[in-house]
Amino acid sequence: MRAAVITRPRKLEIQDLPPPEVGAGQVRIRVGATGVCGTDLHLFDGHFHAQLPLVPGHEIAGIIDQVGPGVRDLKEGQLVALDPVIACGQCWACRRGQRQHCLNFQALGVTRAGGFSQYVVAPAGNAYAVENLTAAEAAFAEPLGCVVWGLLRLRPEPGGNALVFGAGPIGLLLMQALLAVGVAAVTVVDPVAERLALAKTLGAARTVQSGPNLSEELRDLEPHGFDVVTEATGVPSVVEAMPQYAAVGGKILIFGVAPEDATVRISPYDLFQRDLSVIGSFSLNGTVPQALAWLETGRVQVKPLISHQLPIEQLRLALEYKEHPGMEGALKVLIVPE
Ligand SMILES: [Zn+2]
Ligand SMILES: [Zn+2]
Repeated sequence: MRAAVITRPRKLEIQDLPPPEVGAGQVRIRVGATGVCGTDLHLFDGHFHAQLPLVPGHEIAGIIDQVGPGVRDLKEGQLVALDPVIACGQCWACRRGQRQHCLNFQALGVTRAGGFSQYVVAPAGNAYAVENLTAAEAAFAEPLGCVVWGLLRLRPEPGGNALVFGAGPIGLLLMQALLAVGVAAVTVVDPVAERLALAKTLGAARTVQSGPNLSEELRDLEPHGFDVVTEATGVPSVVEAMPQYAAVGGKILIFGVAPEDATVRISPYDLFQRDLSVIGSFSLNGTVPQALAWLETGRVQVKPLISHQLPIEQLRLALEYKEHPGMEGALKVLIVPE
């Protein structure tokens, strides 16, 4: 089978590997679609203590083609979405219900072979049967699962207003999810006009193109600020500016992945005096079922977020899309092995 393998930092090879053997309690999936995300880029760059060689890809959907001994409820031929987080179930964090902080953390496409491959093996408990979705749509179960977890952390109040920085695939999922849980109006900020137009069609109440007058424009729109301020950019200067847009009692959710060594300046007095909350959210924690429910009911739309579907051989193009002509407008890139 063909697989994309990071052999050392910034070195990606397409290799012909033997298909993985299915073990007890496992299923083997013929990959239908795997989403490319920023984490893959970090792994490609050699961050996240990547143990190389590694087949990356953790946003995986495909058809079960082999079922190992002892697997219940899953059958060959079923379309499944995979939760990449493999938790030990026995450590201090797992016993507290914090699977994504498992002290023996493993994850498909991060510490074990992932989905940029024709086949992948996963524990049966990580595979969720999917109905009425394509593999391309089901590949969003993981990123949307992260968004669900973010909202469980955030607990936005019904009828409030929200501000989202970033109208990339994750920002657009976040915006739709905020609306789905009862936020009344979401304002989206991004530098790219086309992305803002898409945000509008997906339900944004208002969009603002970021520029030198951004803070005045947002203040004009909401003089008292936003109940929820969140970002899907990972840009420290964006995070630093977030408290100024929060209403009294507001909640700030840091969702994007900032550089590990970045720091920002935030006024503790401002947090104190205006009853602000700053909330972090890491990965996903058993939230694939909710994500699939949103996908299956159409409450969250993902088809418009898919800009490219590429073969494994073109993974490098997806990882370095910013440098490739024709990829500038890329939103979600899916690798489609066959
Ligand atoms: Zn991801
Ligand atoms: Zn554990």
